[in-house]
Amino acid sequence: MLSRSINRLSAPVTRAVQARNLSFDLSDTQREIQASTLKFAKEELAPVAAKYDESGEFPWDIVKKAHALGIMNPQIPEAYGGPGLSTVETALIVEALAYGCTGLQIAIMGPSLAIAPVYIAANEEQKKKYLGMLAAEPSIAAYCVTEPGAGSDVNGVKTTCEKKGDEYIINGSKCWITGGGHAKWFFVLARNSDADKKTPAGKAFTAFVVDGDTPGITRGKKEKMMGQRCSDTRTITFEDVRVPAKNVLGAPGSGFKVAMGAFDMTRPGVAAGALGIMWRALDESTKYAIERKAFGTQIANHQAVQFMLADMAINLELSRLVTYRSAADVDNKVRSSYFASIAKCFAADKANEAATNAVQIFGGNGFNCEYPVEKLMRDAKIYQIYEGTSQIQRMVIARQLITSFAQNGTARV
Ligand SMILES: Cc1cc2nc3c(=O)[nH]c(=O)nc-3n(C[C@H](O)[C@H](O)[C@H](O)COP(=O)(O)OP(=O)(O)OC[C@H]3O[C@@H](n4cnc5c(N)ncnc54)[C@H](O)[C@@H]3O)c2cc1C
Repeated sequence: MLSRSINRLSAPVTRAVQARNLSFDLSDTQREIQASTLKFAKEELAPVAAKYDESGEFPWDIVKKAHALGIMNPQIPEAYGGPGLSTVETALIVEALAYGCTGLQIAIMGPSLAIAPVYIAANEEQKKKYLGMLAAEPSIAAYCVTEPGAGSDVNGVKTTCEKKGDEYIINGSKCWITGGGHAKWFFVLARNSDADKKTPAGKAFTAFVVDGDTPGITRGKKEKMMGQRCSDTRTITFEDVRVPAKNVLGAPGSGFKVAMGAFDMTRPGVAAGALGIMWRALDESTKYAIERKAFGTQIANHQAVQFMLADMAINLELSRLVTYRSAADVDNKVRSSYFASIAKCFAADKANEAATNAVQIFGGNGFNCEYPVEKLMRDAKIYQIYEGTSQIQRMVIARQLITSFAQNGTARV
């Protein structure tokens, strides 16, 4: 009885201790990072966004500039040649880049999803080699988990790995791989050839880093997409690809945990991309509403338009709070699936609402490709799909609050 009461007390007490560190202010350095990245986004990304959207060409010139500024893969630790920025600072960079164009932003920051499992599970030698490679030059890495028959249900992955001597042989096909056409190395999740249907996911998969030039890897055609069109997304096929056992990430058999654990680190960054869209939608809509007149006055004076602007601002500020919080959890080494999923889900849904309402505020011009907001609407959609759909985020959140209730008598996680 007593221990149950203590259990019930412990969550609020822990939170009170954490609250002493509660601050809503960015540091001077963080403000400087945000301001300089926003300047770069406005001066270098926004002016070429439509061009790259139309051509679908991979923006190497922009990627090179971002790398030279130290804002590409900024979370790579200094020990491996990177800038060693925090997750919060990385989120600020993503948000500001996304303000300029989320297609260009994902071209620059796409490797972060491949980097995360390396942080989680790689040994020192692997970190030096594969993180060092990305820090040294503007280059790409890609995360290969999704397959034609396995997206949300990762346990359905059919790509196999078979151990032969001190090598593994990988066979299978991965789809929707961001950066797939240019990746110098791939993170690959494969099912152990000796795992049967009854083997639990936690023991059935092995994770690898695979060099991009390994024989047997085929890079498919670049996908034509609704939005983020200059991001290079392809099917990658592995046919008898021989990978040295030293390229296993973590323990053999623990790949599922490694692959899924990456999302706790990366979902705050995806949410930050959605923030950038909302921020841009709000700015473009406010500017247009002040300039455009209807019924003898600026449309900004019509209450229905004001309410759309106010809702955009409300959702942007709320999304920012939970996104920065989830990023801070990663930096504080607090396991953060709950807040990472809330941030990703809420920011993605609200970015779609904001982009749709931006088109509404622009009226007919919103539907015209000469104006910037139709692209925001096309680009926003992907945030509800990649790195776990909005339905999957809700499942993650619900599972944790149900567990919390069972353990602590409250659904508060
Ligand atoms: C542009 C782009 C880039 C991508 N980049 C990468 C990448 O770099 N690496 C990578 O590995 N993958 C990548 N993906 C894949 C992406 O993560 C998957 O598309 C996503 O996880 C959804 O999987 P799916 O497409 O198979 O949809 P499905 O899993 O088939 O889902 C279809 C629908 O069913 C819903 N659904 C499924 N299961 C449930 C459930 N249990 N309860 C409720 N609803 C459910 C989903 O929410 C969705 O609405 C990318 C995808 C795109 C489009």
